[in-house]
Amino acid sequence: MTMTAVNPHTGEKLRDYPTLSAEQTQAAVAHAHGTFVHYRRTTFAERAAWMNRAAELLEERAESLAQLATNEMGKTLEASRQEVLKCAKVCRYYAEHAEQFLTPQPAETDAERAEVRYLPLGAVLAVMPWNFPFWQVFRFAAPTLMAGNTALLKHASNVPGCALAIEEIFRDAGLPQGTFQTLMIGSRDVEAVLRDERVKAVSLTGSEGAGRAVSSVAGDALKPALMELGGSDPFIVMPSADLDAAVSSAVTSRTINNGQSCIAAKRFIVHRDVYEAFRDRFVATMRELKLGDPMDPLTDLGPLATAQIRDELHEQVQDAVSKGAELLLGGEMPQGSGYHYPATVLGGLNAEMDVWWEETFGPVASLYVVDNIEQAIALANATRFGLSSSAWTRDAAEQERFIEELEAGATFLNSMSVSDPRLPFGGVKASGFGRELGREGILEFVNIKAVSVG
Ligand code: NAP
Repeated sequence: MTMTAVNPHTGEKLRDYPTLSAEQTQAAVAHAHGTFVHYRRTTFAERAAWMNRAAELLEERAESLAQLATNEMGKTLEASRQEVLKCAKVCRYYAEHAEQFLTPQPAETDAERAEVRYLPLGAVLAVMPWNFPFWQVFRFAAPTLMAGNTALLKHASNVPGCALAIEEIFRDAGLPQGTFQTLMIGSRDVEAVLRDERVKAVSLTGSEGAGRAVSSVAGDALKPALMELGGSDPFIVMPSADLDAAVSSAVTSRTINNGQSCIAAKRFIVHRDVYEAFRDRFVATMRELKLGDPMDPLTDLGPLATAQIRDELHEQVQDAVSKGAELLLGGEMPQGSGYHYPATVLGGLNAEMDVWWEETFGPVASLYVVDNIEQAIALANATRFGLSSSAWTRDAAEQERFIEELEAGATFLNSMSVSDPRLPFGGVKASGFGRELGREGILEFVNIKAVSVG
């Protein structure tokens, strides 16, 4: 069996990669478990040295890794470079802070001495998506490995080269063999790995469907699970907003990563007083984006990662238009090779349309007009997702209401949603559960042990 990498800009095959047999997968799980027994006894200083070396390797290899990601999933080369460099940052962040985050905490009880310890769990399975093929993995791996766990990666099937390159980085950084292994397996093989008693937990970043499937197995097997799923984030613009800054961020947030980001702003909810001004400037700026070869430095929007993703996005747009939506920009399937899709803006939407309820995973923006903050918050929350949110207002009372009332794992005021190693990241509702990054991220896969000495 093989896994095939395809260049989404040309639609041409890049390479076939052999997949693992059931026996080879079992051997990898045994290796991860066996390595854990020794790896957990390494010191924070040793782990930090390996993690810092991984950061250096990421920087040294940034150009070739960036080319690999762009070839396999189509983001612009510059976006790939930035992603690789951000991975180095998360490695250094946990190298520096893990020991302090996991320092035993003394507790006052009736015992002579009591404390809380943070001990590693064992082998942790990661099921990861292609959209940030390096970042998603490193933001899982850096805290998980620094806490003393070992890791098994089942990466998305369309980025096999990236999956193997990550394993190589950790190996070359000097981590003991078996600490981080890439499993070249398909999604059907995930259940058997997760049910294996030597695998102690799972972290999944991906779609709602994958989240439901994998968290059901984790639930049945009674294993901890962290789910980072889809989003349909609101981007709210109130009358007091700095409109130039809001428009510029709105365009960036909707089109970053060719529109394929979980925390991209997807629904633009604009107060009636500024709606027309926002809409006109937003459409004009979206119109200027250049669609093309992601290797070309002048390209703003590369292709979508697969033909299926493009087809599904186009169906969502056609569904809205057929039900009366206003097509303010784009919406036409480009001719030629590759899976490109133009920057598209829809207005006049209603709840009969799929885009009202579903995530749009590509450069398609939905515009909504509201009369007041109550309507803005109600519409923002009228989704089963709750990943992040962005609200633009200079009014302190409005800011406080957005922080308190938006149902999301994060609220960014007067800036777009971004992930940052120093802040926890994750969602509520159908966007998942658990947190990555920050101190919260490293606490997900540890045994928080109560110790009492009589
Ligand atoms: P996906 O199709 O769900 O795939 C994600 C991973 O799950 C892949 O490794 C995939 O393997 C695997 N998978 C899919 N179905 C599975 C199943 N039934 N059992 C076990 N494994 C399964 O998602 P994607 O298209 O790669 O990524 C896009 C989605 O991820 C979007 O919804 C996006 O919003 C979300 N996302 C969320 C975050 C976050 O932090 N919350 C970040 C990035 C992306 P195969 O490739 O082999 O199918």
